[in-house]
Amino acid sequence: MSTESAPVTPALFDQYMVPTYSAPPIIPVRGEGSRVWDQEGRDYVDFAGGIAVTALGHCHPALVKALETQAERIWHLSNVLGNEPALRLAKKLCETTFAEKVYFANSGAEANEAAFKLARKYAADHFPANKREIIAFDNAFHGRTLFTVSVGGQPGKTKGFEPLPPAITHVPFNDLAAVERAISDDTCAVVVEPIQGEGGIVPADKSFLQGLRTLCDRHQALLVFDEVQTGMGRTGNLYAYMGYGVTPDILTSAKGLGGGFPVAAMLTTSHIAASLGTGTHGSTYGGNALATAVAEAVLDIVNDPALLQGVVERHRRLTDGLNEIGQRHGVFTQVRGQGLLLGCVLSAPWQGRGRDFMQAALKEGLLMLVAGPDVLRLAPSLIIPDVLIDEGLARLDRAVATLTD
Ligand SMILES: *Cc1c(COP(=O)(O)O)cnc(C)c1O
Repeated sequence: MSTESAPVTPALFDQYMVPTYSAPPIIPVRGEGSRVWDQEGRDYVDFAGGIAVTALGHCHPALVKALETQAERIWHLSNVLGNEPALRLAKKLCETTFAEKVYFANSGAEANEAAFKLARKYAADHFPANKREIIAFDNAFHGRTLFTVSVGGQPGKTKGFEPLPPAITHVPFNDLAAVERAISDDTCAVVVEPIQGEGGIVPADKSFLQGLRTLCDRHQALLVFDEVQTGMGRTGNLYAYMGYGVTPDILTSAKGLGGGFPVAAMLTTSHIAASLGTGTHGSTYGGNALATAVAEAVLDIVNDPALLQGVVERHRRLTDGLNEIGQRHGVFTQVRGQGLLLGCVLSAPWQGRGRDFMQAALKEGLLMLVAGPDVLRLAPSLIIPDVLIDEGLARLDRAVATLTD
């Protein structure tokens, strides 16, 4: 049999893939909205959303159309020439946020890499050489390039990759007094996720973000919001900063921005953007026409008060159901998060067993995630229908029962 006609199985993963991930338990082959089907035709309700990426579910007709239309026009031109969808998307992002300038990248890590480099470059342009320190938070996650993983606050993820970039300080999240002790005129930026995602779906306190804004202003440091996971309607606001009423100097967006097509953006003001002058930074694919055409379609749909209100309503329905399941089985101490970024904190007897819940859910036909060993994470489509929220909850209920019985 030729390799072309040999069946594709999960076993091929261990045979051919670098083992940065574990072999997949199933291989989905088709998706429609918040439903997914695997190779055997089994159906799943999708509460995972490709890790907060497929903001409008799978194969949304408007996104398919945007991709197909652009695919027939032109794919790639390089940033020497530029393209219409990228410029349209940049204009729309500026018109709907604090930003005046946009830089496009392909992934969250790349958008953050640009943000952190910009913070250093801005300091180099305006301040003495001592002002280069970046303050970030324990358990933060900002991506896997060497710079972004170093700014992230999970030491396990940098182990073995040393030497790491210097002048990065970590302090506890939601601890303003700790930031006040750490910050100085040597600080060029404070980097924070409005809701820590990978760190366990931990929302920042409003007073904490307000305090960071004040401290940054006092020390002429830039406030950088990593909204890779919280952006594009995920919290019920277009960006989480809008709900907090705290405006950053630099914001990064990825995951939901392309609804499943790789694209990312760094947003900032004209004054700060001036420090990334011609030739200082760049990316071959950043802002390519296919990616930005799809992202424009996502933004057009998500940036709608009715859709964002729908996220708030779905939040209520989903959290009510999760709290009910948690109480009846005694498995959760808390359901936290905003909008459709939710974390179920496992109770003491179940701590460390997040993956067991994920596997049990999969067996019952439900895709969901963990955020660390003790928190189940849900990040479904922003437009998941109520019937599928209820069906997913019923499947989760059965899955939890298989563990607790
Ligand atoms: C996922 C994530 C990243 C990294 O994004 P990639 O596209 O995987 O590089 C960075 N920051 C946050 C908050 C994230 O959730």
